[in-house]
Amino acid sequence: MRLKYARMDRAISPNEVKVVQWLLDHPLLDATLYRLQPLEQLRVVGGCTCGCTSLHFKPVEQLRGKKMLADELALYPDGQRAGLILWGLEGEIVMLEVYDCQPGSSHRFPDVSNLCTWAELGRRDSQLSKSNEG
Ligand SMILES: [Zn+2]
Repeated sequence: MRLKYARMDRAISPNEVKVVQWLLDHPLLDATLYRLQPLEQLRVVGGCTCGCTSLHFKPVEQLRGKKMLADELALYPDGQRAGLILWGLEGEIVMLEVYDCQPGSSHRFPDVSNLCTWAELGRRDSQLSKSNEG
């Protein structure tokens, strides 16, 4: 049997705190409840074995009923994109999902400087297509 989730137990890194904070600053819903918990105290208890850099802050069996708190993306300097979804449950941040926009693009964890909203991306794309037409 192939294990889909890797167990670990480590403190969240300073960059990971910034990425979670940025996602909480761009929420899909009222995330006030999720801001009460100091992000520096989150522990990474699991990851995905597919190669992506998703972070689990709660064991996977405790994620039932999780809510999507934020859905944005990372835009890397080389032009690759990865999707980022922050999941919460009952006031606790439970997971940061990183998914591929191009094959393998979720295999590196973004720096906070790579983060971009879908709205910003749309504006960038429309500016690019204008300048290409221009
Ligand atoms: Zn994965």
